[in-house]
Amino acid sequence: MNGKIGVIAGDGIGPEIVAEARKVLDRVGTVFGHRFSYTDILMGGCSIDATGVPLTDEAIAAAKESDAVLMGSIGGNTSTSPWYKLPPKLRPEAGLLKLRSSLNLFANLRPAYLYGELRAACPLRDDIIGDGFDMMIMRELTGGLYFGRRETVEKDGVITAVDTLTYSETEIRRIAKRGFDIAMKRRKKVTSVDKANVLDSSRLWRKIVEEVAKNYPEVTCEHMLVDNCAMQLVKDPKQFDVILTENMFGDILSDEASMVTGSIGMLASASLNDTKFGLYEPSGGSAPDIAGKGIANPIATILRAAMMLRYTFDLDREAAAVEAAVQQVLKEGYRTIDIMPRPGESTEGITEVGTAAMGDRIAERTG
Ligand code: NAD
Repeated sequence: MNGKIGVIAGDGIGPEIVAEARKVLDRVGTVFGHRFSYTDILMGGCSIDATGVPLTDEAIAAAKESDAVLMGSIGGNTSTSPWYKLPPKLRPEAGLLKLRSSLNLFANLRPAYLYGELRAACPLRDDIIGDGFDMMIMRELTGGLYFGRRETVEKDGVITAVDTLTYSETEIRRIAKRGFDIAMKRRKKVTSVDKANVLDSSRLWRKIVEEVAKNYPEVTCEHMLVDNCAMQLVKDPKQFDVILTENMFGDILSDEASMVTGSIGMLASASLNDTKFGLYEPSGGSAPDIAGKGIANPIATILRAAMMLRYTFDLDREAAAVEAAVQQVLKEGYRTIDIMPRPGESTEGITEVGTAAMGDRIAERTG
């Protein structure tokens, strides 16, 4: 298979961590007989420096011509970087928003996975963690409260602010379909989260999800109210496979879910549209405080590359090989500085490594 990958290395640690993901992808190519070609795309602060804007039309066109885009990270130190003296529309992060809307990326995928080797970092009790948990939050990204009509008005001396939560059946159907497709590649369970006891938009959400579920007889579909879901995530996270939800609920629940893994910096994220295209983007930032030091953790970026293999290229075996290599390296005790045991915890069998050494070890064990 030939895969055309757009690469946004970006700013700060971006180029360092993307280089390690490319190392692992090249290894996948060699072991499994695929060819990946890479096109560098400028976005963020580096694009501002080179072109005056955070994302050019040429960069958007290059992304559109790619099968998928793998992103490092963008942005600089928000207090000291000259990029943050520019108007908001010209700052690094504006490039990402523009790219997402240009590519119509309406679905955001955030896995929350607990690595057995890092369970000491999980804030939950041992009996709740059990054998660990592995869930995927599928969040609608372009509708709902964050994009509805809003206004603040003053009448008779009283200020009132209004935000509207709107969803059409088309918007719900397309995200639900993506959610069930993802579940088919996993443990075949979808928990659709809403507030159908109060909100009309949630009642429509539930109705459409049920309609879509009929086309996926192998997938178990259940509905859960958002307040209950927030509780269940800390009470019994093992019950979840795919959580399918609207924009604001997903915003909050995905942060909660990744926090309960205790290793938020290890988690990948992807934004998808209704083709196979995906923007495999970071959950965190560009870590300007450690850029250039060779100590950044490349694992989240490598796991984003694994997601790309699975969801854009349908290379499930190859994705699993990369994930197994990450697991193996952790099992062997290799850690970058950010995931080293905390003071007071045992360091027996643990070796601290830098960015490139971590990438080398994962690449060597892939396949
Ligand atoms: P950050 O996530 O970059 O860093 C927070 C802390 O985590 C820092 O101490 C950093 O050293 C550490 N860290 C982050 N990634 C790491 C890694 N891979 N390995 C080891 N340590 C890591 O957050 P910030 O400092 O608040 O933001 C820096 C810049 O990133 C800002 O310009 C911000 O706007 C931008 N940002 C971009 C995105 C995005 O591109 N989606 C998301 C968040 C922040």
